[in-house]
Amino acid sequence: MKIILLGPPGTRKGTQAERIVKKYGIPHISTGDMFREAIAKGTELGRMAKGILDQGKFVPDKITIGLVKERLSKPDCKKGFILDGFPRTIPQAEALDKMIKLDKAVLLESSDDIIIKRLSSRRQCRKCNAIYGIDMPPKKKGVCDKCGGQLYQRDDDREEVIRKRLETYNKQTAPLIECYKKKGILAKINGQQTIEKIFEDVVEALI
Ligand code: ADP
Ligand code: ZN
Repeated sequence: MKIILLGPPGTRKGTQAERIVKKYGIPHISTGDMFREAIAKGTELGRMAKGILDQGKFVPDKITIGLVKERLSKPDCKKGFILDGFPRTIPQAEALDKMIKLDKAVLLESSDDIIIKRLSSRRQCRKCNAIYGIDMPPKKKGVCDKCGGQLYQRDDDREEVIRKRLETYNKQTAPLIECYKKKGILAKINGQQTIEKIFEDVVEALI
């Protein structure tokens, strides 16, 4: 099962990916998480990526493609994987095509208004990365239900950066939809439904 998750920021790709991992036992590969980990660790990659992420721009293709290529060569990806946040540009999609044969591209759709509302209320746990938001508030404000860790707002979840991320998505990533449609592997899903309903649709698309 070799799957990619497509869609603008804030369409719950991460939340859905977590569920797919639980159900199918394949690894979740999120380039966004990889960059944030590198930033937290202060590696060379992290120092380079920090400013780019804060502006809502994309990390250069060459670096991102190299990172994914290395990750996909690991033994746990043999059976399949779920790619979340990659590819995001035409060159990345072409590079991926050369690495593996994809089974499905799952597209989560949502309106800009909902995305902005959702992202500006999003909080993440510093310890376990759990995600909370307008329709999934924590029991106690600022504290993670799962581990008691502190919740924080991502630097790029401020409204002006969210708008920039949407603009970048529309310009650079949206054209990929047509490519996967042509290949006959695109599954379009309404991302404005409840998390449970979205997941039902995702599972159906993967059968
Ligand atoms: P979201 O989908 O919520 O925008 P991600 O966590 O997937 O967030 O990505 C966060 C940031 O990491 C992006 O705004 C971008 O700067 C960088 N990034 C992630 N994936 C890629 C990619 N495939 N190519 C270039 N930059 C990326
Ligand atoms: Zn936590």
